[in-house]
Order: sequence, then structure tokens, then C-alpha cells
Amino acid sequence: MADRSAPAARVAELRRQLERAAHEYYVLDAPTLSDAAYDKLFRELQALERDHPELRDEDSPTARVGAAVGASHLAKHTHLVPMASLDNAFDEAELAEWDVRLRKLVGDAVDTDGYCCELKIDGAAISLTYRRGTLAIGATRGNGSVGEDVTANVRTIADIPRHLDGKGWPDEIEIRGEVYMTFEGFERMNAERVRAGEDVFTNPRNSAAGALRQKDPRESAKKPLRFFGYAFAVPGADTLPFATQWDLLETLAGWGIPVAPHRRRCPSLDGVHAWAREVEATIRPALPFAIDGGVVKVNRLTLQSELGVVGGRVPRWAVARKFAPDIAETVLLDIEVQVGRTGALTPRAVLAPVEVGGATINYATLHNFDLVAEKDLRIGDWVQVKRAGEVIPQILGPIPAKRAGDEHAVQAPTHCPACGTAVRRDEEEVAIYCPNLSCAGRRLEALAHFASRDGMDIRGLSYQRLEQLIAAGLVTDAADLYALTARQVQALERFAERSADQLIAAIDASRQQPLARLLNALGIRHVGAESAKLLARSFGTMDALARASVEEIEALHGLGHTIAESVHAWFADPTGRALVERLATAGLRMDEPRAIAADGAFKGLKVVLTGTLPTLSRGQATERIENAGGKVTSSVSKATDLVVAGAEAGSKLEKAEQLGITVIDEAELLRRLGG
Ligand code: NAD
Repeated sequence: MADRSAPAARVAELRRQLERAAHEYYVLDAPTLSDAAYDKLFRELQALERDHPELRDEDSPTARVGAAVGASHLAKHTHLVPMASLDNAFDEAELAEWDVRLRKLVGDAVDTDGYCCELKIDGAAISLTYRRGTLAIGATRGNGSVGEDVTANVRTIADIPRHLDGKGWPDEIEIRGEVYMTFEGFERMNAERVRAGEDVFTNPRNSAAGALRQKDPRESAKKPLRFFGYAFAVPGADTLPFATQWDLLETLAGWGIPVAPHRRRCPSLDGVHAWAREVEATIRPALPFAIDGGVVKVNRLTLQSELGVVGGRVPRWAVARKFAPDIAETVLLDIEVQVGRTGALTPRAVLAPVEVGGATINYATLHNFDLVAEKDLRIGDWVQVKRAGEVIPQILGPIPAKRAGDEHAVQAPTHCPACGTAVRRDEEEVAIYCPNLSCAGRRLEALAHFASRDGMDIRGLSYQRLEQLIAAGLVTDAADLYALTARQVQALERFAERSADQLIAAIDASRQQPLARLLNALGIRHVGAESAKLLARSFGTMDALARASVEEIEALHGLGHTIAESVHAWFADPTGRALVERLATAGLRMDEPRAIAADGAFKGLKVVLTGTLPTLSRGQATERIENAGGKVTSSVSKATDLVVAGAEAGSKLEKAEQLGITVIDEAELLRRLGG
């Protein structure tokens, strides 16, 4: 909060904080403040300076680009044309205000060529001087006028051409752009730093900036640096040989300079808003590199020169449309171990709750313990968390600069946290697992998988109901399900007579499921729906498979050694064998119908299912179509032959209609299947 009674003191305090943050960010490449926190303080200072003109100072961070260029191991380089920063628009209203401001100066001339929208790459700005088409100098932005000479390092970046392609480039030209690192490259580089006993970089931006400023170019060469160009300056030239920013980008691309994807020309501000919304909602989550917004530029270059630069710091003709951060900082409270259905033990990060990308995050996935070690994550660390669309949140890495010294590393468990069995790790695998088939920790997940749509397809046996059955002591493994009675189920909370009867009927019906489904449902490590089908079709019965050697299983086309070993070990384990025996005694069908009709009614047809069918489940319909020689795929395309639509069919049905693909209902499907 601003201290209104003493604006001068607050201004001094803000300048001090911002200067320290800028030094950490630009010079040390190790920020301790989040970008959002920095931007908030920056805006507070801007507002105070606006309200109190007597406090303005040309040395203020609000009047400068970057950070002061102090002593460093790198030589200084004076840019022929200064490199500016960008003003920010944090929402649509602020973007509209920017548009009003520029129209006051150039009127509706903006409408002739509209706006050029580009991704705002979150990397480090550089300027590349090409003389007669050959790369001569690479320099960081520095304070805008003077940067650091990083030519030797820049030459190691494969994306940056030594010689420009094509023709038409001026004799001397400064190409501006962003050096960045992909998320994958960033993780790889940090893993190497941990192995070398060095602190990790906090995020891809800082690692790119750090790698660019290495003392030894051989070190830079090892870093996965990339480059996108977005501007250029020709010293002394007022005009350029093309009319628009869009043409400029196309020209750069023609010279062999990589230009960022997803750029768009928008004739109106409404189009710009729509582009920004699309980028934030659907494009950013899928990008392999970080962006912190979009940059909106007046497209016509003569208007850009007319509008000029404010105070040497920010152009009037461009603005950064910043997005809500999809990366946040929080504390790693604990690393829990979860037991999966096949016994895999996975670490999960427990986080101090933090808001990111519009949701509160409490947990993040960590995949495996090697990754925890590679990222050098310690309990108590401040970490950066990234939320990408629908994907489960991930930890980018710790913030070493914030360590107090009492953080501690965790080791992979040696024993299963649920049952105490010593864990196992197969050669060449990163995952560790609990080999105990009757481990209580995997019970719920294993049963949920058993009953799932791809497994035994037991309708109504939801996760919650399984939890109830387990808690009541009625079920410990799959075979127990077949001993349940309607009366036992009805005695549980939230079960009425009808629902209990329905559940028992659904369990009963699942006894007829073919071997392929049962094999998938059993949750044998490495065996999924496809390999289960192959095993079932090849061996025909559970007995034959149980007796098969590793070599016999491995001989099947499409199954590797890992699957063969895992299947064999499962049947060799007394728990596995006992379960199969009990399932057989419970009357489950233990074989695979042989009659897959190579010349069935659906031979060679690609079918898509959409909506809810009145009687058949998705799994049942798929199986029947496959048994009749068809293939069920998940999305509608020109290659689709037939769409089967049920209630509440949505976009797939629409697409089928657009493409003129035949759509049938369940009744027709059953008729074609032969009743
Ligand atoms: P900026 O990063 O907000 O915007 C300007 C820069 O955007 C340009 O210099 C250019 O490098 C880059 N850019 C990327 N794509 C572009 C494109 N297509 N067209 C044009 N430019 C493009 O400005 P800045 O002055 O570099 O840095 C200020 C920002 O840096 C702050 O808003 C804050 O988020 C962050 N910062 C953070 C800390 C911290 O402690 N966390 C400290 C200082 C600065």
C-alpha cells in the first residue's frame, strides 16, 4: 500500500526495491521477485510520479530501459539505434486506452493497415548486426543505448544464421529479436547444472539470459538457446523498403531468420482482442516455450515512425498485452508418495495453495524421483509452478536465491508407504514400484481400473462407491465384487433398493466380458487395452496364457520383452494366480471369442461414436463394431466412413454433417450388426 502521508519516502522505497529487483533480473539472471509483483510495484511508482511531478527523476526505473550496465566480463556495445522496452496493457480496457491515445495523434490512418499481433516471447532481447549480409555483432539490450557484446556466444546459436539468405538486405542492418529457451531445453540444462553441483536457473527466461552472457562461448554452445526475430533497424535510414510490420516479418523469414508462429494481421481492435483471448486460452498452454503476452503493433511503418518513442523508453506504436501469469511462486511443503494401480510409486508435490491461471493449486505432479533429484527440489523450497490449460500443474524448478538453508532433499522410498514391501526398480526404468499384488495402497485405483469402461465396464461402480465398499470391508480385490449381494450393498449409505439391484446386475453381466477386457482390467504392469487384445486373441484362454513362457509371449508380433516379463511374473506370483482362480470360480468367462469377422458387416470401415447411446455403453459398441471388422476412431475426419450418434451428440455430429458422412443411430447400428 502506498503511504499517502509520505509519498517521497514511498517513491524512494519503491525505486530502491525496483532497482534491486532489476539488478537480480537483468544482471544476475536470478530474480527473487515474481514478474507480477515487480509489475505491481512499477505501476505504483508510475502512479506516484504522475501525481507528484516534483518527485520525477530521469534516473527512476520508470524512465529507463533494463538495468544499469555496470562492470562485467563482457565488452560494452553501443547500439546504433536504441533498443526500447514496451508499455504494458494488462486488460482489454487498457489496450483500448492505448488505441485512443495513438488515434489522437494519427487519427484513423491506423485503419488502413490495422494492427500486427505477435507473441511476446519471454526471453532476452538481442540485437544482431549484419554487415553485407554477414553476422558481425550480437549484443544484449542492456540499458537500451549500451548493451553487452555477446557476439562469440551468439555465433553458437544454431537458429541465428551466419549469413542472410536471399537478397535485398541493406549493407548494415540491426536485426532485433529474442533469445529464448524451450521448456524442454530449460529442464535439460537444469538437470546438467544439478549434476555439476550448480544452482538451477529459476525459469526459461533467466536461463536464456544467463546462457547468453556466459564468459566462455563453449559454455553457451552447450545451452539449448533459440531465437525469434521481430524487428530491425537500419542506421540512418528513415524509410524501409516495405510498408508494414507484417511485410517486415515476412522479409525477415525470407532472409532465414526464424519468426515466431501465431502472428496475425487484425484490421480492427476487436480482432486484436479476439486474437489475444485465443492466444491466452488455447495457444499459450500448448506452446513449447514461454510467452508473457502478445505484442500489438501499428502495422504501417510510416505511422510507427510518426508515432515515435516516449522518453527514449517505450514506443507509442506498440504495446505489450500482458496475460495473467500462468506461472506462480509458492512453497513446496512436502513430497508425498502415491501408490498407483499397478504399484508404481509416484512422488507428488504438496504446495502452499497458490492462485495461478484462474485456479488454486495445492498439488503438482513430479512424475518420478529421478526428476525430483534432477530439479534439485527440496522440501521448504520456494518453487515456480506452471499451469498449462487442462494439464496437471507442474513445477518448473526451485528458486535457489530464496533458500534459507533449512530446506532438505528427499530420497526415493526404499519401502512401499502403504504396505512396507521393499520397492523394486526394473533395469532401464525410472519408475519404482511396490511388487505386492495385494498392497492396500493400490486397492482403490486397481478396482476402479477393473470396473472402468476399458476394463470390465461395470456401469454404476464409481470411485465413490468403491470407496464405500472398501471402507465397509466388503471388497479387497476384484474377485470379492462377484460375491457381493444386493442386500449387503443396500445396507450402505446412499444406496436404494433399485440402485443396489442395478449394481449387482451390472457386476453379474461383466462375467461375460471377453478375455481381452479381463486382462486389461487386471492391471498387469505395462499391459494396456491393445496388448491385452493381442494376448487374448493369440492365447485364446487364461489358462494358456498363464502357462506360457516369457519367450512364447515375446514371440508375438508387437509385444516386447518388458511386457512379456511382466505378464509372466504376474502369473508366477501366488497372489496373481489365486485371484485368477477365484475369478474363474466366480464364473467369469476366461476366453476370447475367436470369431473376429475379417469379412464382417463393418469390414474396413472407420467408425466414430458420439453422444450417449440408449442401451449400449461406449465400450460395448466399440467391441461389437470391432468384432464385425470395423475400427472405432475418436475424431471425425474425411477418412471417417460412418458416425453413430446418440443423445447429446455435439461437435462430432456437426462435423460429420458438414463433411457429408453417413450418420446412424443405435437401432440402425444393431440392425447392421445383425440384431
Ligand atoms: P518487457 O519484457 O515487458 O517488454 C519489452 C521486451 O519484450 C522487448 O525488449 C523485447 O525483448 C520483448 N519482446 C518479446 N517479443 C516481442 C515482440 N514480438 N516484439 C517486440 N518485443 C518483444 O520489458 P522489459 O523492459 O524487458 O522488462 C520489464 C518486465 O520484466 C517487467 O514487466 C517484469 O515483468 C520483468 N522484470 C521482472 C523483474 C523481477 O524481479 N521479476 C525485474 C525486472 C523486470
